[in-house]
Amino acid sequence: MKYALVTGGSRGIGRAVCLALAKEGCAVLINYRSNEQAALEVKQQIENEGGVAELLPFDVSDNQSVDENITKWQDAHPEDYISILVNNAGIRKDAVMVFMQNEQWNDVLHTNLDSFFFVTRRVLKGMISKRYGRIINIASLSGIKGLAGQTNYSAAKAGLIGATKALAQEIGSRKITVNAVAPGFIATDMTQDLPEAELKKMIPAGRFGKAEEVADLVAFLASDKAAYITGEVVSINGGLYT
Ligand code: NAP
Repeated sequence: MKYALVTGGSRGIGRAVCLALAKEGCAVLINYRSNEQAALEVKQQIENEGGVAELLPFDVSDNQSVDENITKWQDAHPEDYISILVNNAGIRKDAVMVFMQNEQWNDVLHTNLDSFFFVTRRVLKGMISKRYGRIINIASLSGIKGLAGQTNYSAAKAGLIGATKALAQEIGSRKITVNAVAPGFIATDMTQDLPEAELKKMIPAGRFGKAEEVADLVAFLASDKAAYITGEVVSINGGLYT
């Protein structure tokens, strides 16, 4: 059985990714920071559909917590390894640069970028020794194009894209692929405060995307069919960015 770890799997895009990977037959490790109730609902839904899921809570921005919790899981599953990693957990704390506080900069960089380093480094050992792996990093349109009011978030996501390309070259020979998915506006808790009616006028597809649409793309990149795609950034944004 393939184990898939999805960070931030309790809500939004991560939740949809957990459900999609479970449908593909993966055992899903649902990571979250604090919303246990939401994570339990994802687990329940997977089990109701005949799938396998476990909760694996930790703060992705805390190196010690990442190491301790993944090691604990590994100790309980000595025969298994995590072959699919979806680095999805993320936050935004928007502010124009001139008013941005250190805390807004640091929190966004720690949660969206440092997390990639902490979690991936820990999980990579198993993939390298088994010579198989899929790593999918959820970046953003903001990391490709830059968005005003998001210098912190754009910097973190652009960093994630650079790291994706570098790591793909580092481990390509081990049959491990590393790709980034760059969503535009997707309807989740993260975008609830945005003026959707105004923003969707700018989107050629005329609507926000669905978490399930992003999840289908992630599930493809996680599959054996995507073995020759690595170091790529795949946009999913309804035509917003050209
Ligand atoms: P969301 O609905 O706000 O969900 C965020 C998820 O991340 C939750 O499961 C949350 O866990 C988890 N999380 C946050 N901080 C964490 C931490 N320190 N440790 C562990 N888990 C943490 O967000 P979303 O819209 O689904 O976004 C998912 C990813 O897609 C993010 O990386 C985001 O930047 C990216 N993205 C989103 C959009 C969009 O339009 N929605 C567009 C481009 C990119 P709890 O439930 O415990 O809080």
